[in-house]
Amino acid sequence: MFSKILIANRGEIAVRIIRTCREMGIATVAVHSEADENALHVRMADESVCVGPAQANKSYLNIPALMAAAELTDAEAIHPGFGFLSENARFAEIVTKLGFTFIGPSAEHITLMGDKVSALDFARKAGLPCNVGSAGTLAKAEEALEAAEKVGYPVIIKAASGGGGKGMKVAHGPQALRQAFNVAVSEAKSNFGDERVYLEKYMDKARHIEVQVFGDTHGNLAVLGERDCTLQRRHQKVVEETPSSALTEEERTKLFATVKKALAGMGYVGAGTLEFLYQDGQFSFMEMNTRLQVEHTVTEEVLGLDLVAEQIRVAAGEKLSPALTSAKPVGHSIQCRINAEDPATFVPCAGQVENYYAPSGPGVRVDSALFPGAAVPPYYDAMVAKLVVWAPTRQQAIARARRALDEFVITGIKTNIPLHKKLLATKAFATGDYHIHSLEQFIKEGRF
Ligand code: ADP
Repeated sequence: MFSKILIANRGEIAVRIIRTCREMGIATVAVHSEADENALHVRMADESVCVGPAQANKSYLNIPALMAAAELTDAEAIHPGFGFLSENARFAEIVTKLGFTFIGPSAEHITLMGDKVSALDFARKAGLPCNVGSAGTLAKAEEALEAAEKVGYPVIIKAASGGGGKGMKVAHGPQALRQAFNVAVSEAKSNFGDERVYLEKYMDKARHIEVQVFGDTHGNLAVLGERDCTLQRRHQKVVEETPSSALTEEERTKLFATVKKALAGMGYVGAGTLEFLYQDGQFSFMEMNTRLQVEHTVTEEVLGLDLVAEQIRVAAGEKLSPALTSAKPVGHSIQCRINAEDPATFVPCAGQVENYYAPSGPGVRVDSALFPGAAVPPYYDAMVAKLVVWAPTRQQAIARARRALDEFVITGIKTNIPLHKKLLATKAFATGDYHIHSLEQFIKEGRF
């Protein structure tokens, strides 16, 4: 087992990883930008190294500075968290080449799944259900029009290197598609440095269902249940839960078996998530995230597992733990992503926290790096806390989440807690009657 791990991240996920390391008796190294000098992850780690100025591309994405920090502190392994360099194959490769262990899958698997077109190609060949769409990337608007005729409108254009819900364009007819194609190509180029786009059928009332998988270096692969991340704004998840209220036990069992069969023999190591859209009884594979997800917490709550500990164990060459391979879900878990943003306009809101009181009590977990006086710099992702609840039933979990949201106090910065309070009080949420566009519709209707 490792004796020291460097965490190449910040905020709540860095704190989350440090907590597990401490429980495992592993020393930790925090890295930070100049803007995060007094951040909680820096205070909680055993050592810390400043890796550059506030801008992420000069600090948290600065590979030479991160490698120098690992070298200087004698860290043996690097945990990338999520976001930043977590799905950067080159980073994984450099870490390994320099003699450190990357806590994640191989660079080869990151590359395969990081490109959505090659991931789809893999998925089709591996027998995963996929959406109808273009055979590969589209070089010209004419090719997009041809593919759309076959698929049928509406269609959605996506960037091959897309992520974070960015770069998707919907078209309801040929004229709109021609325009959307040109915009999508130029946005893909400027956002991701890769202008390749592809097209698929647009789903108007789908659920977002994802499957957590975990592999080790001994060829074992476990499927750890699904998460329902249907409630989104701008293709970004807002509330996540497990189990999904949209699936029957039969559909669930069939999906897990298909996923397990598709990945068998691939040699995937570590945590991974396969994302699907689910509409009219059909699943369509969207992508695979080759890292820990923000919402891994709800899986941990129903399975009683520590997925970060499992990541560290398999990175150290151990087999998947018996606790993981025999885990059976119990009860229901819901996560609310708390963002530092104006609850009405959704504009990110940096600043300094004044009062901070996190809810607690039975079945309540808060993963956050906030404290009274904490700085919320404008340079990074707006998510500042995750409220995670567990209860025996979905109904009880909703009641618990609403109780916890009422207890939550964060002043000095604006947050989307009011949005969560209203969303969890809706009849639609209580009955599970919603799809991926519902939250945006509620907002448009002025319900929040
Ligand atoms: P990203 O990698 O940017 O997160 P994904 O492919 O995972 O992009 O999709 C994110 C979200 O975008 C989905 O959860 C869904 O809400 C929406 N989306 C993606 N594909 C489609 C589609 N074919 N039809 C409708 N919505 C879609």
